[in-house]
Amino acid sequence: MQTVQQFTSLSHLSCSQCGHKYDAFEVHSFAPCCNQPLVANYDIPETFTRNLLRGREANMWRYREVLPVMDPANIVTLGEGMTPILTPRHLREKYGMPSLFIKDESLNPTGSFKARGLSAAVSKAKEAGAHTCIVPTAGNAGGALAAYCAAAGLKAIVVMPRHTPKVFKDECNLYGAELILVDGLISDCAKKVAEMKQTTDCFDISTLKEPWRLEGKKTMGYEIAEQMNWTLPNVILYPTGGGTGLIGMWKAFEEMERMGWIGSHRPRMIAVQAATCQPIVHTWQGVQPNCRKYVGRPSIANGLAVPNPFAENMILRVLRESKGTAIAIQDNDMIAAVKEVARMEGLVMAPEGGAIWEALLELIAQGTIHREEKILLLNTGSGYKYLENIC
Ligand SMILES: *Cc1c(COP(=O)(O)O)cnc(C)c1O
Ligand SMILES: [Zn+2]
Repeated sequence: MQTVQQFTSLSHLSCSQCGHKYDAFEVHSFAPCCNQPLVANYDIPETFTRNLLRGREANMWRYREVLPVMDPANIVTLGEGMTPILTPRHLREKYGMPSLFIKDESLNPTGSFKARGLSAAVSKAKEAGAHTCIVPTAGNAGGALAAYCAAAGLKAIVVMPRHTPKVFKDECNLYGAELILVDGLISDCAKKVAEMKQTTDCFDISTLKEPWRLEGKKTMGYEIAEQMNWTLPNVILYPTGGGTGLIGMWKAFEEMERMGWIGSHRPRMIAVQAATCQPIVHTWQGVQPNCRKYVGRPSIANGLAVPNPFAENMILRVLRESKGTAIAIQDNDMIAAVKEVARMEGLVMAPEGGAIWEALLELIAQGTIHREEKILLLNTGSGYKYLENIC
């Protein structure tokens, strides 16, 4: 029998800016000292070794020692994680990229990698005794919150831009969530959530304004290492909105190095954004001092339409430390890329995935990435939800 103490090694939370410590069992928001995200810290036991993973469940909870849930009874799972890493044979041959890989996150519940973050966060909401969860979303996070809240028996409130394609709204309704439509982008939805929280008691799961979604998303980093036999790729391309996946993978690499699971080699991390909403690219290139006043427009890749990412400092730190870069892609190039990959590989990626394929071609043309390198693309979502706007 496993005792509750052995299940997670969560010890405390700390401010991502100054390191100030917070109680992991009381706080579920961001760090007031610097107005920055909180990150979870663990006292990882030496008994947690790579061998222990063998034979465990094929979902992200196989890494439960480094996930934040105290009591296994609170885990809300729909089988998220352990998505395949594909070897796209025809693209490899046509473009001369012998070590190209695609991690296909479209196979997650609700069709995107948002499932990982919401599985972790809704589990923690349940553990905290919450009855209602709320999220501002550009699309996929809303469907995922609605599904996990249904599974948990909690009420979900989803606040979404009115212009979001119908299918993203339909899925929220189907899972029994309350859907609120707002004119504007996700930043406007975030204002609405802040306003509603004044009068309604609910667990706020806004991107990186609570520490738990990051913990779910970091499992991508653990899986990449485990599935690639503990040798990380040279380059990872990631479609960046709020940045949770990028920051999460980087956190996973640090934790694994501390445990002796991997060495100090790190991939260069590439943040790919939409040309119509590229706050990180502009800050990275020095066009603006930070993202706070950036004004974005919608993109077909709605997951990338995040004009003022709360965790911009953390995103930029990953790009700097990894010697990576940031690049923006036009919507029509994303669509062309989705079509090419579909025809050549039988994989319908989200436009966010199309963006990383086009970004790879551009970065190879610039000489930033070499064809022979071990390259990993993260297809973060399914193209099926976007078909009416792609075809
Ligand atoms: C949300 C989303 C992203 C961006 O993820 P962040 O963690 O916010 O950076 C990328 N792709 C898809 C399909 C998404 O739904
Ligand atoms: Zn601080």
